[in-house]
Formats: sequence, structure tokens, C-alpha cells
Amino acid sequence: MLRGKVALVTGAGRGIGREIALTLAGYGAAVIVNYNGSKEKADRVVKEITEAGGTAEAVQCSVADYEACGEMIRNALEKYGRIDILVNNAGITRDNLAVKISEADFDAVMDTNLKGTFFTIKHMYRAFLKQRGGRIINLASVSGLLGNAGQANYSASKAGVIGLTKSIARELAARGVTVNAVAPGYIDTDMTQAMPESAKEAVLAQIPQKRVGTPRDVAEAVAFLASDKASYITGQVLSVDGGMYM
Ligand code: NAP
Repeated sequence: MLRGKVALVTGAGRGIGREIALTLAGYGAAVIVNYNGSKEKADRVVKEITEAGGTAEAVQCSVADYEACGEMIRNALEKYGRIDILVNNAGITRDNLAVKISEADFDAVMDTNLKGTFFTIKHMYRAFLKQRGGRIINLASVSGLLGNAGQANYSASKAGVIGLTKSIARELAARGVTVNAVAPGYIDTDMTQAMPESAKEAVLAQIPQKRVGTPRDVAEAVAFLASDKASYITGQVLSVDGGMYM
């Protein structure tokens, strides 16, 4: 489904990003496995892909660093000639009631989740224009759609990602580039394992399907949007959340 394509997945050493990298590679894409701090985990993802006969490499870069993002993308374009699929998955939380969110915690979440997404798109923009084709898939969240008490910074960043997605979708639509967001609900990763038990139970009670999602649930949605099958879909937010947002 993705043979011959080159994908860059940010934050792909663990969690949802890891599964996206493995899934895209499983469908035939060569995958650049971006990581920030998780070098060993990213190396393991690369090993898994190459041992299965695929192509992958791990690249360190904080998406919150504008210059570093530019360098990562320039190097990738030089090496592979193009990037067909850009998946902005890197994300962090600094949960607290708004009254207790420091400016630093607000900025950190914005810098990674929203500005990081903008930075990779900005550095890829001209290449996408030249390629006259491509896919951008941004990880939003049910929190960006519904809001969530205790996540004012995170919800705002993810609502921002949705606005960014729609604006870039309009800018690039005539060039054959589709831009969509995937909005996961409650997915079993380090991010949600860090939540207190009471919060986990409260979220579970809001899921019509009555189960927590898996990284694979999200990765398959990303793979679909990355494929030729989704060529007439752009500017959309695809919820993968067991029915939390409908
Ligand atoms: P996670 O397990 O906490 O993993 C976060 C990932 O983001 C890690 O790979 C981490 O890389 C990477 N990352 C963080 N800061 C980065 C930076 N500055 N530069 C590059 N990479 C960075 O999170 P997850 O649950 O897999 O979440 C993945 C995405 O899905 C996020 O955007 C998140 O907001 C979104 N999401 C998750 C859920 C959920 O229920 N889990 C729900 C809705 C949306 P390193 O380890 O290398 O630092």
C-alpha cells in the first residue's frame, strides 16, 4: 500500500509513534524514526523494521527546536530525494488545573505539540510544493475537540493543531497534498499510564465502546490517510476514540 514512499514520523521511539512507524513500514514505506530522548527505543524500532526487510533510520531532533527541525528535514530530503508522508506525532502533557499551570508548562506543551507541528510543516512546505503530492497527518486529540478539565494547555495545543491542519489543507489542496488530523481518545501508552487511577476510570466511563484504544487502532487510521485510498480526503479530523466524540 505504501511501497516506494518515504515517511517521517516524529516521536516514533515509543507509544503511538512507534506503532505508526512499524505500521507504515509494514505497508512498505521507508521510515525516518524521529526521537527526542529515547535513542535506544528508536534504535529498536529501526532494528525491528530492518529485520523484517524494511528500510528505516533513527534521527534525533526535538521538534520544539526550529533549527534542528530544519536540519532533520534538509538531511532527509538530501538522502531520500523526497518525503511523501509527514506524521506529526510528537506530543507531551503537563496536566494540571489551569490555576496551577505555570507559564513554563503552558509554553512547553505549546512548543512541542503546536509549534513542533508547524515547524516540520514549514520546513517541508516547499518540498511538498515541488513534489506536487504528499500526505501530512497530525496527531490531535479528543481533548482538542471536547476540552478537558486539567488539560487547558494540552487541549489548546491540540485545538490549535486542528486549526493548523485545516489551514494548511486549504493552502496545499491544489498541489495534491492532503493534510488531515487523527484525534485519538484514550490510548494505552506511557502518556495515559501516567494518569491517576481515578482519572482513568472517569475516562473509561465516557467511552461508548467500553475499552481503551491501542496504538495499533491509531496507526491503522494514519496508514489509511497516508495511502492513495485517501486521496480525496483533506482537512478532516478522524476520531479514533471508541465513540467518545461524535
Ligand atoms: P507518549 O507515549 O508519551 O510518547 C510521546 C512521544 O513524543 C515520544 O516518542 C517522545 O519522544 C515524543 N516527543 C516528546 N517531545 C518531543 C520533542 N520535543 N521532539 C520529538 N519527539 C518528542 O505519547 P503517546 O500516547 O504515544 O502520544 C503520541 C501522540 O498522540 C501525542 O501527540 C499525543 O498528544 C497524542 N495523543 C495521545 C493520546 C493517548 O491516549 N495516549 C490521546 C490523544 C492524543 P522521546 O521519548 O524520544 O522523547
